[in-house]
Amino acid sequence: MLNLVLFGPPGAGKGTQSQKLIEKYGLIHLSTGDLLRIEKANRTPLGLEAQKLMDDGKLVPDAVVIGMISNKLDSNRQAVGFIFDGFPRTVVQAEALDRLLEEKNTAISGMIGLEVPDDELERRLLQRGKESGRPDDANPEVIRKRIKEYNDKTAPVAGFYKAQNKLENIDGTGTEEDVFAVICSIIDSWLKG
Ligand code: ADP
Repeated sequence: MLNLVLFGPPGAGKGTQSQKLIEKYGLIHLSTGDLLRIEKANRTPLGLEAQKLMDDGKLVPDAVVIGMISNKLDSNRQAVGFIFDGFPRTVVQAEALDRLLEEKNTAISGMIGLEVPDDELERRLLQRGKESGRPDDANPEVIRKRIKEYNDKTAPVAGFYKAQNKLENIDGTGTEEDVFAVICSIIDSWLKG
């Protein structure tokens, strides 16, 4: 299986690149942000619990997102592989993901980190907020809180995969096509190896 973690701060382009990658490689896209937004739209108990935290730019509890990912792995047993987008966002989540994949006799192939400076992230997120209607993208204060959550809790996840020799950081500031080409060359090298 090809199991890719697409990593980077909010606004780095993970969702955009995921869409291109699922077409090219036939992978299943698992975005915890998208899954949480579906729960929120359906006003499920989980969605209602997550809503306040999301709208405030904070992470939802590890157990909630780990449970969602576990369900999705179980319901996609025939998949050729997965793209994890926005997950794992804490070291606890990364450890849980390793265990879940091990139970399925597979593992993370690698993590690709998209590097984009903070001022560019803020610009992109405010622009997306105008088009998407996502409340967490419309408010500069919430955006800065999300970037801070990322730096405090999520950035250490890179070290977790680096220690396993699975981390490749790339420049996320080029065009969509430039970034896609770099990601594909990395994935193709994993598939050959
Ligand atoms: P972005 O990467 O643009 O910040 P996402 O769509 O990935 O946005 O996530 C939106 C929100 O959903 C996050 O700010 C957070 O509140 C919540 N969330 C998503 N994934 C996770 C996760 N793995 N752990 C905790 N909270 C999460």
